[in-house]
Amino acid sequence: MAITDSYFRQINRLRISVTELCNLRCTYCRPEAGIALMEHKDILTYEEIIAIIQSALKFGITSFRLTGGEPLVRRGIESFIRMLAKVEGIEDLAMTTNGIYLKDYAKILREIEVFRLNISLDSIQETKYKQITRGGNLSDVLDGIEEVLQLRFKNTKINVVAMKGINDDEFEDFARLTLERDIEVRFIEYMAMNKSSLASENKFISSSEIISTIEKNNELIPLPKPALGSGAARVYKIKGALGTIGFVSAVSQPFCDSCNRLRLTSEGKLRSCLLSGGEVDLKSILRNNFSEESLQDAFIRAAHLKPRKHSGRGHVVMHKVGG
Ligand code: SAM
Repeated sequence: MAITDSYFRQINRLRISVTELCNLRCTYCRPEAGIALMEHKDILTYEEIIAIIQSALKFGITSFRLTGGEPLVRRGIESFIRMLAKVEGIEDLAMTTNGIYLKDYAKILREIEVFRLNISLDSIQETKYKQITRGGNLSDVLDGIEEVLQLRFKNTKINVVAMKGINDDEFEDFARLTLERDIEVRFIEYMAMNKSSLASENKFISSSEIISTIEKNNELIPLPKPALGSGAARVYKIKGALGTIGFVSAVSQPFCDSCNRLRLTSEGKLRSCLLSGGEVDLKSILRNNFSEESLQDAFIRAAHLKPRKHSGRGHVVMHKVGG
C-alpha cells in the first residue's frame, strides 16, 4: 500500500535523526555551548527505530537516510548498522555525516551493499574549516573521504553549504575536486532557519550565482537526473571530469511539489516537513499499547500534515530535525 499526502505526493523516503548530539559545533547550526542533553530514555532505541522502518516499508517507503546530530557519535551505531543490514526491503540506505569518524566506520558501512554517504564539508582550507566547525580537523574528514573512495562506495556526495563571505572563494576548488574523483560535490543553498538564528540571511548565495562563479573557468555540462539519490539536485559535470557537481536550491527554487519525504526525530516525532507542518509522536505509540495498526495510522496522519509548501523559514533548529 502506497502512502500519499493531501496533495497527491507519494511518500517514499524517511530521514531518521539517530541523535541530536554532534562532535562539531558548526557556527551556523549549533550554539557554541552545545545543546541541552536529552535523557537516554527520551530517545528512540535502535529496536524502536527498526520497528518504525519496518512499518514504513509496508507503505512502500524504501529509501532511508540516517542523520542527526552526527549519526556516528551515537553509542552502538555499529550494531544498529548491522541490524539494518538484516531488514528486508530497504532499497536505498544513506547517511549524512560530518566525516570526522568516517575512517573508523567506513569498512562497517561498506558491508551494506546499498549504503551511500553524504559527507558535509564546507571548507577545504584547514584554518577556515576549524573556524566554521569550531574545532574540527580537516584532515580527519579528508582521510575519511579517501577511505570511502578506496572502498568504492557508490554515489558518494560531498555536501557544501554555500555561504557568502565564508566559502564563496572556494567554489571552484570544490568543483575541481570532481576532476579526478568519482564523487558528487553538492552545493546546498544556505537556509536562514529562524529569526534569532545562528544562520543569518546575509550569508545566502543562490545556486545560479555559484554556477556563474564556476563557469568562469570551467565548462559545465548539464546531466539528466540519475534514478537513485538524485533527490532535488540539478546535476552537472565539468567536461572530462570523473565526478559530478550538484546544486540543491531549496531557497531559490523550492521543490515542495516533488517532496516525497517524512522525517523522524531522535525523540520519536514523525515530522511532515523540515520547516513547517505538524508532527506525530511515534514514541508514545511505541511505548503505550503498541499495535502495528496504530503505527500505520500515525504514518498516514503525518503524511496528511504535510503542507503544500513550506513557509521558507522554520522555527526548528537543524540539529533537532536533521539535515
Ligand atoms: N552531522 C551530520 C553532518 O554534518 O552532515 C548530519 C547533520 S547536519 C545538520 C546535516 C546537514 O545540514 C549538513 O550538511 C549541514 O551543513 C546542513 N545544514 C545545517 N544547517 C543548515 C542551514 N542553515 N542551511 C543549509 N544547510 C544546513
